[in-house]
Amino acid sequence: MEEWISQMQGFINTPEKLRRIINPTPEELKAINTLDTRWGTTPYFAALMDPDDPCCPVRRQIIPSLKELENTYGIKNYLMFHENRTVDPERPDCIARQYQDRVAFTVTDTCASYCRHCFRREVVVDQRLKLRFDLDQGIKWIKKNKEIKDVLVTGGDPFLLSDQLLGDLITQLRQIDHVRMIRFGTRTIINLPQRITQDLMEILGDFHRVPIWINTQCNHPKEITDKTARAVFDLLRCGVNVGNQAVLLKGINDDVDTFRELHQKLVYTRIRPYYLFYCEAAPGIDHFRTGVEKGSQLIRDGLQGHTTGLARPTYVIATNIGKIPLMGNDYMIEKTEKEYRLRNYLGEETILPNIPDEQ
Ligand code: SF4
Repeated sequence: MEEWISQMQGFINTPEKLRRIINPTPEELKAINTLDTRWGTTPYFAALMDPDDPCCPVRRQIIPSLKELENTYGIKNYLMFHENRTVDPERPDCIARQYQDRVAFTVTDTCASYCRHCFRREVVVDQRLKLRFDLDQGIKWIKKNKEIKDVLVTGGDPFLLSDQLLGDLITQLRQIDHVRMIRFGTRTIINLPQRITQDLMEILGDFHRVPIWINTQCNHPKEITDKTARAVFDLLRCGVNVGNQAVLLKGINDDVDTFRELHQKLVYTRIRPYYLFYCEAAPGIDHFRTGVEKGSQLIRDGLQGHTTGLARPTYVIATNIGKIPLMGNDYMIEKTEKEYRLRNYLGEETILPNIPDEQ
């Protein structure tokens, strides 16, 4: 049996299995036994948890918390709002749309970890929102809508589909003339790197008119192991680039040192930091949210000038009208008709000429 399948079969999702790996606190056990929610992860990812520290950044992303019952700032029916699901009755459940040329195509609601901060938790984690993810319906809709050039295959985690299903899906998407790129959103590189098998590499790899891009989600340096590095290298070898979409999480990656270490370790592992997402307004995750300015402050204080620009993600908030960049401008102090006064990360200033648009 392939290792990734035995990892999924050994899924850690009961108190008994959990006790073999960590010493859960009474609060954690109460949350597990009280909340009506899917939870758990692979034995591989569970082994990264600190057995004795409930504040461990991996542990906090995996083990349910009673704080999920509180909701002051989250929006009810968040996914219906965020993914504009009431706007176009013709659009199948598996297709979410915010832009003219690209869509998110949800192919499963199963994951290799049920992240406690998931913004799609109504469908994936708590499963109160029942949607139908019909692959044939999705392909048919994409074929019909000729303005769609870029398909983001998402979930749940699409890499939990069998090789056969993934291969068929990629072939069908590549046969649509107007589709120019396929993207996958998968956390398996982080929580199930064993999924990047030779067979999967053959399905994803090789030169093709329609390239495949992958974005994963890594939120803390502890999540990156030698196995992650190997999985990323294997993907690159078969022509697939890997980016990261971190989520800004209170108490997990919202301090300068952790934030810098995360982004440096990503580039050292050949993963390009793509986005830093503000933790969205989904219900039950208030305890993960920081102030909005925090993300741009961390990029300014943790990355700018301290490490390569390749390590710097774009900070955004995802909304129902698309992603909004949240980068503060801390570097231009003054602009006159003649010049710009600029400041670097050390607080040093310089002056450069302002070139008028029309000369
Ligand atoms: S892997 Fe993605 S979809 Fe699945 S629970 Fe985590 S954040 Fe949500």
